Amino acid sequence: MRVGILGAGQLGRMLALAGYPPGIRCTVYDPAKESCASQVCDQIVGEFDDFQALYQLVQASDLVTYEFENVPVESARWLAERVPVYPPPRALEVSQERLAEKEFFQSLGIPTPPFAAIDTRKDFDNALREIGLPAVLKTRRFGYDGKGQAVIQTTVEAEAAWQRLGGRPLILEGFVPFDRELSLIAVRCRDGTVVTYPLIENIHRDGILHRSIAPAGSTGEELTERATEYATRVLSELNYIGVLTIEWFQDGARLLANEMAPRVHNSGHWTIEGAFTSQFENHIRAVCGLPLGRTDAIGFSAIYNFIGEVPATSKVLANPDAHLHIYGKNPRPGRKVGHVTLRAGSAEELAEKLPEWDKEYERGVG
Ligand code: AMP
Repeated sequence: MRVGILGAGQLGRMLALAGYPPGIRCTVYDPAKESCASQVCDQIVGEFDDFQALYQLVQASDLVTYEFENVPVESARWLAERVPVYPPPRALEVSQERLAEKEFFQSLGIPTPPFAAIDTRKDFDNALREIGLPAVLKTRRFGYDGKGQAVIQTTVEAEAAWQRLGGRPLILEGFVPFDRELSLIAVRCRDGTVVTYPLIENIHRDGILHRSIAPAGSTGEELTERATEYATRVLSELNYIGVLTIEWFQDGARLLANEMAPRVHNSGHWTIEGAFTSQFENHIRAVCGLPLGRTDAIGFSAIYNFIGEVPATSKVLANPDAHLHIYGKNPRPGRKVGHVTLRAGSAEELAEKLPEWDKEYERGVG
């Protein structure tokens, strides 16, 4: 089986690595030459709207998937006329635009933060009155890792946020005083079966994922069931195949959907060492029409992202609980260049080790 992957970042690299042992060969597609995924599999270089280059991907693939959601929907639809494309292009369409995404969640009865569409200054002033402060102003498209957004606490900040972001299609969201951020990784296969990984607890810094813990502590059955039920609604509505991630704000017993990613996810990197089957392998299995592997956790894991700087390998591996992943990218400020997964055998061991792991990270591993 030959799988074409749109995008060639670290997620593409991890998908290609997961496909390798069961004999699935991946080809990544990306405009950037010498991508980090191309170090482990073939790459076709082309813009995402270059249909001649995309045709090479059609010829190299039995099916196409993606590791990046900002592929033009028209290109995904064009590909889908020539080769099976999983997840369906509609999943891209919904998740590329924050307003469509929030409206989609609401149409399925899934709670979200309060939001309003902003196209003009008048919309902005009305929405500030309606939603109140604090609030978050975000661009509707191409926002990731906290880029293209501003938290607004005061009217002065509202003005500054408008000066910086105004003139583009925007969305204003009420600021959720969440207890914590969670994500759920779900997989749906071709026969409609849905499996989920345990809920993951995420901490962001400057809008970028810093640390994830899985399984998240004190979730209780009810919260897990609710997240699974909401995710199943999304997957069924989209007739989805593959891995889907939904990010949540937990506010007491409530779960509010923040956003979804129609792909494998950074918060699921722990599944490589910390689950029976990784999210990458299960995505590959799902899109190839193969049976899925078990998704339960093996012990308790924490992952930390390395941002902008590659740590010294020997320093990270001095901790015998650590598994290091370096993505082979050129370091740049704000760029995810690797991560480490640390594993504990029990919840008690995790509680004991986590403060030390946090300190180790701060001491210059990061
Ligand atoms: P996003 O790009 O929408 O995932 O936002 C990046 C991060 O900003 C989130 O993970 C939250 O930590 C924070 N954030 C975004 N939207 C809100 C909101 N409506 N209320 C509170 N925090 C938010």
